[in-house]
Amino acid sequence: MKKILSVLLLLCLFLTACSKDGPAETEIFAMDTYMRIRIWGDNDLLHDAVDEIRRLERLFSVTDEDSEVYALNQTGNAELSADTAEILEQAITLSERTAGAFDPTVYPLVSAWGFTTGEAHVLTREELDVLLPLVGTEHLRLEGAAAALTDGAQVDLGGIAKGYTAQKCLELLSEKGVQTAMLSLGGNVQTLGTKPDGTAWIIGIANPEAPSEAIATLTFTGSMAIVTSGGYQRYFDLDGTRYHHILNPETGIPAETGLSSVTILTQDGATADALSTALYVMGMERGIEFWRESNDFEAVFITQSGTIYATEGAAPLLGGCEFEEITR
Ligand code: ADP
Ligand code: MG
Repeated sequence: MKKILSVLLLLCLFLTACSKDGPAETEIFAMDTYMRIRIWGDNDLLHDAVDEIRRLERLFSVTDEDSEVYALNQTGNAELSADTAEILEQAITLSERTAGAFDPTVYPLVSAWGFTTGEAHVLTREELDVLLPLVGTEHLRLEGAAAALTDGAQVDLGGIAKGYTAQKCLELLSEKGVQTAMLSLGGNVQTLGTKPDGTAWIIGIANPEAPSEAIATLTFTGSMAIVTSGGYQRYFDLDGTRYHHILNPETGIPAETGLSSVTILTQDGATADALSTALYVMGMERGIEFWRESNDFEAVFITQSGTIYATEGAAPLLGGCEFEEITR
């Protein structure tokens, strides 16, 4: 008992010390990934941030039998709570904006490939012919809080949920008076404000060949969402071929466009997440075209041959590597 008390005391001292000189921080496992939360200022709010992440995870999980997405996928109909309706609406909008490269109805394919069941399986032409007609946002109707799917269609928020969660979590902290925070939810980083000492945020972009190491850094101050999608994040190898988890919704197979990752920089977390998945599917050429038609994000592409390309708004922030700049 004494030992526990002294450990608790030490922990309290540690947290107080952290809040004076730096952030209070905690790490959790949620949405199938490690997440780190850092808040400058009020330690107590770490709990609120963790609760918010867990609350959204319980709504959006495709595998948790108590989630709203699970209920929708099982019955084809569901009355949704505000967050699930909002994320679905955003997902549909981003799917339309990216001409279906990001598609929240890919679940029949994701599940058949075994990415959520753990039973890796390479889809045959016959299986693809059965599943592909079930994919497309025309199969998902959303009217206010009421969602409906056509027979056999299923929703997967895996390409947007972490970004949406980071966004909502930071909005909550901001409402509670937090001025500076940083979330790192798997490949999704989002910052709020600027550190009290005025120093810049330095965010690493993972090396696709060695994901625990950074291949480059992004340096900036203020609020920003930075999300990377890459085939290296989740995959299985079978008979010498690698199959990763980002599917081209048109073909039903893992997107192979010569890229090993795409990083998106923008203000909204959910948008960053969906666009990183979408541009990975589009590939560099279509991705650059899409960037030129847009004005709300910047991007860093890493090709399979290891060349790094940065759009002109991302280029001034990028360091630690050689890269080519893409101009408008
Ligand atoms: P990660 O979840 O590893 O950070 P992404 O944000 O790119 O990576 O999301 C990939 C996940 O999104 C997949 O595991 C799958 O659940 C789902 N998904 C796969 N392909 C697509 C797609 N084309 N559009 C939308 N979601 C997708
Ligand atoms: Mg994504």
